[in-house]
Amino acid sequence: MSRFFTEKYSSLIPYTPGEQPQDMQYVKLNTNESPYLPSQGVSEAVEKESRRLQLYSDPECVLLRKKMAEVFGVDFNQILMTNGSDEILNFAFMAFADEKRPLAFADITYGFYPVFAQLNHIPYTEIPLKDDFTIDINDYIGINKNIVIANPNAPTGICLEISDIEKIVESNPDNVVIIDEAYIDFGGESAIPLINKYDNLIVTGTFSKSRSMAGARLGFGIANEKLIADMNTVKYSTNPYNVNRMTSAAGIAALEDNDYYMDNCKKIQQTREWTVEQLKSLGFEVLESKANFVFAKNERISGEKLYTELKKNGVLIRHFTKEKICEYNRITIGTPEQMKILIDTIKKVMN
Ligand code: PMP
Repeated sequence: MSRFFTEKYSSLIPYTPGEQPQDMQYVKLNTNESPYLPSQGVSEAVEKESRRLQLYSDPECVLLRKKMAEVFGVDFNQILMTNGSDEILNFAFMAFADEKRPLAFADITYGFYPVFAQLNHIPYTEIPLKDDFTIDINDYIGINKNIVIANPNAPTGICLEISDIEKIVESNPDNVVIIDEAYIDFGGESAIPLINKYDNLIVTGTFSKSRSMAGARLGFGIANEKLIADMNTVKYSTNPYNVNRMTSAAGIAALEDNDYYMDNCKKIQQTREWTVEQLKSLGFEVLESKANFVFAKNERISGEKLYTELKKNGVLIRHFTKEKICEYNRITIGTPEQMKILIDTIKKVMN
């Protein structure tokens, strides 16, 4: 740390992203990327837009939001586009939470929530998941705190029913409830239709997973117009051109090719079912996942050892050191070929 770093950030523990190794080719199953390439239309749109990079991007993302409105069945003014969904989460925390309006989220969930809370000096409560890693919705009913829930949750993959989400939103009318739907396209039901009924609900989403665009950084928030306006105040006070030209063009093209991406999601769900069966037959305990990853452990090998041994053999999965989950690993669902390699390598390692 330099002697210039301000006191307010000196104790900040930053988020640790998953490994993005540049040294060798791994079967990369550690950061929940899509194994499928972007559609042809997306590559062409990026190519074309690259010839206009001398010009700033549209800070309002008008064309992209029009397309979003069409695909998601919401109003143009109910959408805000961001640089990955991490950015919309940060904007929402900045806009709606502070010492007087603290946050609550699960003890086992997306690791960026406590980091954004600390960054913005927002007090937060971590609500323990039940022993089976499910959320007890009673812990969130009428708690008078802002709430953020990843649905499906990460790294467990477990998904709440939409009726449970609605109970939480309805019972906290004076607080904002953020539903982080980064993984919703892999089998869960989206809360987006509820935004017209509840003025305190924000649904966030991303093009990083189901739409094969992790490297382009495109996320969004969908909510009541007034909530969007408040988050825009934060956006225009930090980074008005937060979505670059190429990403914006890629986003429009991806939505035009929506069927391609939704087909990929179906393939990933099928591959997930195959992978779960295989893992179970090898003695793994696998949580029920509605995401593009599974969370699994095996009594016969520690979580850390499995992660290390697979890495030595060219297969990268995600291991977390937090005590409650350190025996588990999170494994992204890749192509059927990649998952076959995973299973074969696990067999080799366990023998
Ligand atoms: N929410 C959850 C639950 C995630 O796992 C991730 C991916 N790390 C994100 C949000 C953010 O993804 P992105 O910024 O790529 O949209």
